[in-house]
Amino acid sequence: MNLPEAFVNRLKTQFPDQWELMIPAYDREIQTSVLTHPTKFKSTSIQGNPVAWNALGLLLEERPKFTFDPHYHAGAYYSQEANSMLIGHLFKQAIQEIENPAVLDLCAAPGGKSLIYSTLLGENGVLVANEVVPQRLSILRENLDKWGIPNVFTLGMYPNKIPFTHAFDVVAVDAPCSGEGLFRKQVDYRGEWKESFAPSCAVRQHEILQEAVRLLKPGGYLLYSTCTFAPEENEDMLEYLSNEFQLENISVEMHSGWKVDVVKCAAGEGYRMLPHNTPGEGFFCTLLKKPEGHTEKIRFKFNSKIVPLTAKERSTVNAFIREDIALVKNEKGLVFLDTLQHTFKDLWRAMLPNANAGTLVGEFMKDKFIPGQGIANTGIESNDVRKLELSYDNVIRYLKKEVIQVEAESGFVLVTFEQQNIGWGKVVGTRLNNNYPNEWRIRS
Ligand code: SAM
Repeated sequence: MNLPEAFVNRLKTQFPDQWELMIPAYDREIQTSVLTHPTKFKSTSIQGNPVAWNALGLLLEERPKFTFDPHYHAGAYYSQEANSMLIGHLFKQAIQEIENPAVLDLCAAPGGKSLIYSTLLGENGVLVANEVVPQRLSILRENLDKWGIPNVFTLGMYPNKIPFTHAFDVVAVDAPCSGEGLFRKQVDYRGEWKESFAPSCAVRQHEILQEAVRLLKPGGYLLYSTCTFAPEENEDMLEYLSNEFQLENISVEMHSGWKVDVVKCAAGEGYRMLPHNTPGEGFFCTLLKKPEGHTEKIRFKFNSKIVPLTAKERSTVNAFIREDIALVKNEKGLVFLDTLQHTFKDLWRAMLPNANAGTLVGEFMKDKFIPGQGIANTGIESNDVRKLELSYDNVIRYLKKEVIQVEAESGFVLVTFEQQNIGWGKVVGTRLNNNYPNEWRIRS
């Protein structure tokens, strides 16, 4: 399918020296890439060449069947577009001097960029990943849970409803956009695209950015990105943020070998990945700083009772979770990791009634502790846990939520494949009852 005529005409005026190279690049074959987990990834699972601008990125020779790779389900890697991984480079610059940054990813699903932020924050920060579309929110939660770095909360709110004014050190807006950069990946979209998309997306982007600025602390950083080249959604947004809110554009050094196109405008600069220069899809990003000013102390209304575990409960849990891991539980008996020991802990406590907040590691049912998937994903199991290594065929059956016949001692076991944690099961006689989350099962 040809590229839309109106789009080609705009490229000719926007990129007079490059449009002839750009157009054939849209028909080049797509190169699959993945973001690898810093500790769970094993190079025996898949191999590829590094993505120059992100140490965790890998460009693959061919697209494997991710659905049938147990390492994929274990969160050892995530299928992610290589060019968009440039966001990590800007993010690193934003957080480099902030102690325990609190980060909001305002348009987060399905979560590729959230995984980058969560990884770069590690134990030193918190990420609130927000998504307004409920179905996309559950996919986001699944991706973050599988990745298993326990510094993340999820929210599902329209930006103007989020109450945490002036709360975040960094707000990332990966805006819903006209998606011109994706014409290669989504060929059918070429037929659907209209010239009017860019101005109408710009209206929504203004609304989102206005809220993003409100949610930012004075002196905080705004990370803005799109997968389009339309100036209305890129350069014009930079101008808007500068003129309307006095945000200062921050220049980020780009390595010349990365072939990043630096876009200059009156308000500063942004960084563009063009399809003929780089291996992935079209991408634009820029970094801005909110003016310094007074920060009010934020008071959160706690709507959940969070209590420490009793000594008896803790000793029950120790059979499943390492003793050094801090835990709390709520009134429903749900047990969560308590790892966020810094300024933003209050937010977590305010949000905890939503079982999707924080990392759920199990549940008390009367006196019995039922170990949760969070233990498997974060790798915090105690040495006492019995592991059951499955063959490839059996682990796929496990991931399909089928019942498997096994020879093992009765009780809970942590299912592994090639020493990678997959999930829980309970051996009863010769049968392995399957505790893998139903909504994550392989359906094909
Ligand atoms: N950051 C994501 C990633 O890396 O996987 C991709 C985000 S996608 C480009 C934009 C997201 O914004 C979509 O998930 C969409 O549902 C969400 N969105 C749509 N309208 C929105 C609005 N008014 N406010 C905030 N987010 C919105």
